[in-house]
Amino acid sequence: MKHVAIAGAGPAGAATALLLAQQGMKVTLIEQETAFDRVFRGEGLMPAGLAALYEMGLKETFEAIPARQLTSWDFYVGSQRRMRVIEPENKGVATQIINQGALLKAIVEKAQQLPNFELFLGWQVTELSRDESGVVTGVQAVCEGESRAFAADCVIAGDGRYSRLRKLAGLEMQRFPWKATPSPAQFDVLWFKLPAPMSLAHETPFVACLQPNSQFAFYPSWDGRLQIGWIVEKSTQHKGGLAKLKERDWIEAFAQALPADLAAYFRQHKDDLEGPIYLDVQVGCCPQWSIPGLLLIGDAAHPMAPNRAQGINMALRDAIVVANQFSSDGLGLDNQPISAQVLQAIQAERQPEIMAVQKMQLAEWRKVEFISRPGLPYLGFKAVASLFGRFTFAQNIWLHDQKGLREGVLPVHLNR
Ligand SMILES: Cc1cc2nc3c(=O)[nH]c(=O)nc-3n(C[C@H](O)[C@H](O)[C@H](O)COP(=O)(O)OP(=O)(O)OC[C@H]3O[C@@H](n4cnc5c(N)ncnc54)[C@H](O)[C@@H]3O)c2cc1C
Repeated sequence: MKHVAIAGAGPAGAATALLLAQQGMKVTLIEQETAFDRVFRGEGLMPAGLAALYEMGLKETFEAIPARQLTSWDFYVGSQRRMRVIEPENKGVATQIINQGALLKAIVEKAQQLPNFELFLGWQVTELSRDESGVVTGVQAVCEGESRAFAADCVIAGDGRYSRLRKLAGLEMQRFPWKATPSPAQFDVLWFKLPAPMSLAHETPFVACLQPNSQFAFYPSWDGRLQIGWIVEKSTQHKGGLAKLKERDWIEAFAQALPADLAAYFRQHKDDLEGPIYLDVQVGCCPQWSIPGLLLIGDAAHPMAPNRAQGINMALRDAIVVANQFSSDGLGLDNQPISAQVLQAIQAERQPEIMAVQKMQLAEWRKVEFISRPGLPYLGFKAVASLFGRFTFAQNIWLHDQKGLREGVLPVHLNR
């Protein structure tokens, strides 16, 4: 039985672990957190991500976790809604707001039903083990002062955007968009929560608000609270950046972009604000995702921009391709590392979609950045949105534009 050690039980690591264990490999999943709800994790799951879960046979698992299906995409320019696009449902698949921690826990619990799967929660991978020729042969991990070596035929790094394994392997990450400006990597996102207004109890719109030089979005989350994301200037020091922001009356800044009833609600609940959680936006892709014995997947290989919630999607789709490629490598060959060609084939299959999606995210961000420039761009867009936003053709144009971000760019199916 081949043995795969996976660092990180985010969407990429957890889904890959389940699929490989289902294929009969011995899988050791090592996660530094002691529980899945310890850190705030992204909540937006686009149709491509949901379809990937269904491909993995996780429809019932998904249906059992707390989630809300998005009902519409609402666009406010100034303090008025200029366009509402109803969230389409394609074969029962639509955008969801999920409790990611619950989803990860459910995926891992499914894997735990298999005798060839083991989970180490609270263990942090600190080192790579290598043989004399430099091939990765496992990892070292620590937990509360105890250290342990995990030997493996292949190590998969699903340890996220700041991947330690990427650094240990000496693999570089190339920042996107390779010098173009403005880029998604030049902003960060602050996430807050408020109690949700009653008006949003029975619908789940994703509300994007645009003002001159300011953009934010909110949606009623799976837990019934209102999740607000505010796009802020990139800061190299989160704490410094946050302190600067606190000098501004942020609730007032939101309120001014909203119709009177919602604005009053925001002002009234000013003191109930929870957060913020700072999302340090990193966008990039490693020119090389593997070295012999080690493969990077998910954010470790290609951190995504936050617009249109692509991070979980791409991580889940990576997992499917890893499972397909590993199964094609012959499960019977014991004690042989997964071949370098297989690891390279995974990158070759996934990278075109990653690059295409990052390009679409950048194009979308450029548009938003342009139309929020004070003066003609903002006023012009406001006029156009007021005139055409209510017509179905304008809504369909927007939806058509979003197709790749909603459904993925290339077909990804699990070979059973
Ligand atoms: C605040 C925030 C909001 C976001 N919102 C969204 C959203 O709405 N939709 C969306 O699609 N994406 C969103 N994202 C991005 C999305 O969460 C990531 O793109 C996605 O989770 C990537 O999955 P991953 O498995 O590659 O990495 P991660 O989800 O980052 O998982 C990595 C895991 O590895 C563990 N780990 C790290 N280092 C080690 C180590 N040395 N040893 C052991 N374990 C380790 C971490 O604890 C973590 O559990 C958001 C991200 C943040 C930070």
